[in-house]
Amino acid sequence: MTAGTAQKISNAILSCAAGFASFLFSLTALLYLTEFDQKIVAALAAGVFCLLISYVAAERPNSESARALAALSDRLLAVEDGDLVSPAPPAVKRNMPKLAAAVDSLFAEVRASIENAHALGMYDPVTSLPNRLHFRSEADKLISEAVDTVQSAMLFVDLDRFKMVNDSLGHARGDQLLIMVANRLRVVVNAEFAGTAGTRPLLARLAGDEFTIFFPQIDSVRDVERVARRIVLAISEPFELSSHSVDIGASIGVAISPDHGTSIEALMRAADIAMYRAKSVGGGQHCLFDAELASEHQDKIDTEKALTEAVQRDEFVLVFQPQMSLVTGEVAGAEALLRWNHPRDGLRLPATFIPVAERTGLIADIGEWVVDEVAATLGGWHRDGFDGRLAFNISPRQVERPDFFARLRQSFADSGVPLSLIELEFTESAAMEVSPAVLDEIAALRADGVRIAIDDFGTGYSNLARLRSMPLDRVKLDPSLIAEIESSEKARVIVQAVIQLIKGVGCEVVAEAVETVAQADILRAMGCDTVQGYVFAHPMFEHEFVEWTGQARDKDAKSVA
Ligand code: C2E
Ligand code: MG
Ligand code: MG
Repeated sequence: MTAGTAQKISNAILSCAAGFASFLFSLTALLYLTEFDQKIVAALAAGVFCLLISYVAAERPNSESARALAALSDRLLAVEDGDLVSPAPPAVKRNMPKLAAAVDSLFAEVRASIENAHALGMYDPVTSLPNRLHFRSEADKLISEAVDTVQSAMLFVDLDRFKMVNDSLGHARGDQLLIMVANRLRVVVNAEFAGTAGTRPLLARLAGDEFTIFFPQIDSVRDVERVARRIVLAISEPFELSSHSVDIGASIGVAISPDHGTSIEALMRAADIAMYRAKSVGGGQHCLFDAELASEHQDKIDTEKALTEAVQRDEFVLVFQPQMSLVTGEVAGAEALLRWNHPRDGLRLPATFIPVAERTGLIADIGEWVVDEVAATLGGWHRDGFDGRLAFNISPRQVERPDFFARLRQSFADSGVPLSLIELEFTESAAMEVSPAVLDEIAALRADGVRIAIDDFGTGYSNLARLRSMPLDRVKLDPSLIAEIESSEKARVIVQAVIQLIKGVGCEVVAEAVETVAQADILRAMGCDTVQGYVFAHPMFEHEFVEWTGQARDKDAKSVA
C-alpha cells in the first residue's frame, strides 16, 4: 500500500467518523434536549464538529493539533450545558486561528439569532407589548411565587367596535389604533403602579383587539374595579387617527384570585366570561366574575355538549302556531317552531339553546332536521287533504352550506309537497346580510312558489334598498313593536308608519305575539293582514294543531251557514 492510499483510507475513516459523530450528536440533541433553541444549537454544533473533523482529516494532524481538537470538542460539548458564550479554547486559537475565529463568529451568530427569535416570539410586533405566550409564562411565575394570603386580579379588555374601524379605515389604521390603545393602557397601569411597593403589573396583547392585565398583588377588589373604570374612561375618549376622530369602547372582565381561580388559566377563563357579560349588556363597562356567571357558563357548556347529540338521539320536536287572517278571519297558515325534549330538563324553548347552536354552528344540522321534519309533516297533511301553508325559520348559518337549497328542494320533492305550501322566515339581520348568490337562490325558490318572509322586523338595521330589491312576500313585525300599541300613541304612530312602508314595497304584514283582542282590532284598523299570537292560539303539538284547525274550520263553516 502506498503512502497516498493509506492517507486516503485514513481520511475516509475520519470522514465516516465525522458523519457518524454528527449523527449521534443530532440524535442526542433531538432526544434529550427539550427546548427548541437548544436543538438548533446542537444541530449547528454537530455541523461544526463534522467540519472540524473533516478539516483535521485534510490537514493530517500532528499531536499539537490533536490536543487542540480535543479542547475544541470539549468546548462544543459544553453547548449541552447551555454554554454559548465561552470563546474557542486557546490551543485552537494558537494552532488553528482561522478555525477558532470561525467557531467564535458562529457562536455569536447563533446567540444573536436566538435572541432575535425570542424577541419575535415573546412580543407583539404591533404594540411591542408581551404576547400571549410571554404573558402566560410570566403570569404563571408570578402567581406561583405569590403568598397564599395575597389577592391578585386578572383583567380582560376587549375593544368595542374595533372591527368596524378595521373594516372601514383599513388594517394599517387599525394597527395604529391598537398602538394608541396600548399606550393609554400603559399610562393607566403605570399610574396605578406608581407609588406602590408591590410587583409591577403585567400588561399584554393577547390577540386582535384583546388585551389583558395581571395585577399580582391587590389591596382590595374595589381598587381593581376603580382601575377597570379608569380604563373604560381612557378608551372611551376619541382617538385621532390621521384626521379621523374614532370612537371605540372597552368591555372588561375582572377575575380575582383566589376567589375565582388560583391558576392563570382559571383566572383568564373567568375574566373572559365576565368580559362577555360586559359586552352583552352593551359594552363600555366592566363586569366582575361571580357565582351566577360561573353557573350560566357551566349551563352553556352542558347545553353545547348535549346539543351535539340531540339530533342523533331524536330529541327535537316541532310545535305549530296558527296564523289568522284579519281579512277573512280564517286560519291562514301556521309557523313551525322548534322544541328540545331535553332528557333531564323536559321541553326546552329555543331561547335556551338556539343561541348556543348558532354560536357553535350546530344550528346547521338542527336546521336540516327542521327542513326534513316540516317536509314529512306537510307530506302527511297533504295526503290527508289538508293543505295549510307552513312557515319555518331559517338560520343564516344554514344558508352558508353550499348544498342547502338543493337539499331543501329534494326534501320537499321526496315528501311530495308542492313548494307553494312552504314559507321561509329569515330574521331581518340575516336578510340584510345574505350574499347576492344566496339572494338568487331565494329568488329561484320564490319563482317556484315558495313564500319568503322577513322575521322580527324592526329589531335590526334595515337597508331599505334591500327591502325593495329582496324577493319578498311578507314581513313579520317584531313583538316589541306590538307590545305597547294599546297604551302608547307613539307606538301606534310607529306601527302605522311601518305597516305603510311594508305595504308600500308590496308585501303582506304579519303581526306576531298579539296577545289581546284590542291589539288585533287596532292592527286590523291599521291594515295589518295576518296575526299570530296567544290571543288565538299558543304553539301546539301536531295532533293538537290538527284538532284545533279542524274545529276552527268547523266554526268557520257554521258561521258561514
Ligand atoms: P320567531 O320565529 O319570531 O317565533 C315567534 C315566537 O313568538 C315563538 O317563540 C312563539 O312561541 C312566540 N309567541 C307567539 N305568540 C306569542 C304571544 O302572543 N306572546 C308572546 N310573548 N310570544 C308569542 P319560540 O317558539 O320560543 O321561538 C323563539 C324564537 O326561536 C323564534 O322566534 C325563532 O327566532 C327561533 N326559532 C324557533 N324555531 C326555530 C327553528 O326551527 N329554527 C331556527 N333557526 N330558529 C327557530
Ligand atoms: Mg319566525
Ligand atoms: Mg318573529
